[in-house]
Amino acid sequence: MNNTNSILLVGSVALDTIETPQTRRENLLGGSVTYALVSASLESPVHVVGVVGKDFPAEGHELFRSHAAGLTDFQIRDGSTFRWGGRYHENMDQRKTLFTELGVFADFDPQLALGNCNHPYVFLANIHPALQLSVIEQCNADCTFVVDTMNLWIETTPRELEQVLARTDILLINESEAALLTGTEDLPKAAQALRERGPDTVVIKLGSQGTVVAGAETAVRIGVYPVSQVVDTTGAGDTFGGGFVSALARGMDLGEALINGAAWASFCVEAFGISASSRVDKSALDLRRARIRETLTLEIGKTLL
Ligand code: AMP
Repeated sequence: MNNTNSILLVGSVALDTIETPQTRRENLLGGSVTYALVSASLESPVHVVGVVGKDFPAEGHELFRSHAAGLTDFQIRDGSTFRWGGRYHENMDQRKTLFTELGVFADFDPQLALGNCNHPYVFLANIHPALQLSVIEQCNADCTFVVDTMNLWIETTPRELEQVLARTDILLINESEAALLTGTEDLPKAAQALRERGPDTVVIKLGSQGTVVAGAETAVRIGVYPVSQVVDTTGAGDTFGGGFVSALARGMDLGEALINGAAWASFCVEAFGISASSRVDKSALDLRRARIRETLTLEIGKTLL
């Protein structure tokens, strides 16, 4: 198999229930893999590792068939698909998890097909760190590992998460998770503390304030694309991650990867689930990338945090 520029994507595939102050939606296609697949696959070949139950709907299977370059390690098992429910507060910035039902993810322990062990980029989207670690250990050591996580794992599985961090090349994390993981709200200190635990590069998502990436020598900061009405922020981080990794896999630098991630995230928040992002084409993406590019600030040898 020719794996040039290809991405291996691991994480949750879910049916989500989302409550906003205005409305409630049930059984939306969601999960970290679903969001990241939509954004990564427009410009890069993506191979998926994941599991769903027999209850996964036909439209979900169709989405995976039409977006993934490979589904060898995408399993359909007896049992229920992972389900997650969340409720948003008025400003859509804060949310509460209402329920998490692991279903078929509870004992998912994939043995990767040989052809999936040597993709140049491996995006370990949000899922139990033990699963992330198992995939890392099956992949060639020279793959670039990009990792996302969430507060649940920081609080409940810190030892496994630490082992994942030690093998991570690029960590994607939001501001509050970085503070939770390091014990400091001082962003430069948090970024430095995270880099000492494994990743060379740390990307900190600042919500409506944009995103910063901190590496050994360089720091880059970008703003967000101004969306007129934010409908649902679920999956914005995963959609960002898919766009970010796709740009890196195509040989772009960290600044362009941030721009691509932010452009994709701006589509995600305009509608529930993947309904806006799954309709994006290159010309719409180019317009947003150009607008966000104007907000980029690059500094060498400093942090912009
Ligand atoms: P985000 O808004 O970027 O944090 O992503 C939200 C998505 O993450 C939803 O579609 C959920 O199905 C999924 N999700 C929520 N909790 C978990 C969890 N514990 N493990 C894996 N995925 C999750």
